[in-house]
Amino acid sequence: MRTIAENIAEIRKNIEAARMKSPNPEQDVTLVAVTKMHNTSEIAEVLAAGQYILGENRVQELLDKYETVDDEAVWHIIGHLQSNKVKYITDKVVLIHSLESESLAKELSSRMQALGRTMDCLVQVNIADEESKFGLEKEAVIPFLKFAGTLPGIRIKGLMHIAPYFEDPEDVRPIFREMYQLFEEVKALQLPGVDMDILSMGMSHDYQVAVEEGANMVRIGSSIFAI
Ligand SMILES: *Cc1c(COP(=O)(O)O)cnc(C)c1O
Repeated sequence: MRTIAENIAEIRKNIEAARMKSPNPEQDVTLVAVTKMHNTSEIAEVLAAGQYILGENRVQELLDKYETVDDEAVWHIIGHLQSNKVKYITDKVVLIHSLESESLAKELSSRMQALGRTMDCLVQVNIADEESKFGLEKEAVIPFLKFAGTLPGIRIKGLMHIAPYFEDPEDVRPIFREMYQLFEEVKALQLPGVDMDILSMGMSHDYQVAVEEGANMVRIGSSIFAI
């Protein structure tokens, strides 16, 4: 039997080891604990382990948990976000990982302007998996950033990627490497309103490879809760 706290400690240790092999060994790597399908008492154990950044992929589940989970939690939305759901989360999350369309960016911009605030966002990129419906193709990323960077109420903080599943996580390494190259390429452009600070990629199965290839934010669910 393992505890959630032990799992988190193990993951943090693995992240540190991977970071030492990464292109930027000095940079911090942020762990987002993905709490989807897990209940308030399990999430309380996550918080007790000092892990306050939590991610949910569905708006309704986030809203339910927002009410019941201790308010020291800091929430990210990590999954596909429909424009008509934006209004429910603008005052509840600090980072949206899944900005991927002009209509979503416009809706978010107008909602945030109405609140007089700015939302940090990552742009979701789909470079590998043709079957996945969500995320911008690589060629569309820079034009999209030029558009979204100019919108008031939105601040672009980086890129996010959901890698396809391979039995052997080594097989996904070239995709993470390609994402890192894109991230560096975009950073060098210094587009207005665009900070390339965060590269969100890596999940339970492949986060060590992702960090070795330059991810500085990982989203981990099942490895935290497998006890
Ligand atoms: C569920 C989910 C994760 C975490 O996946 P695990 O394999 O459980 O670590 C990460 N990112 C997104 C977008 C998810 O939906």
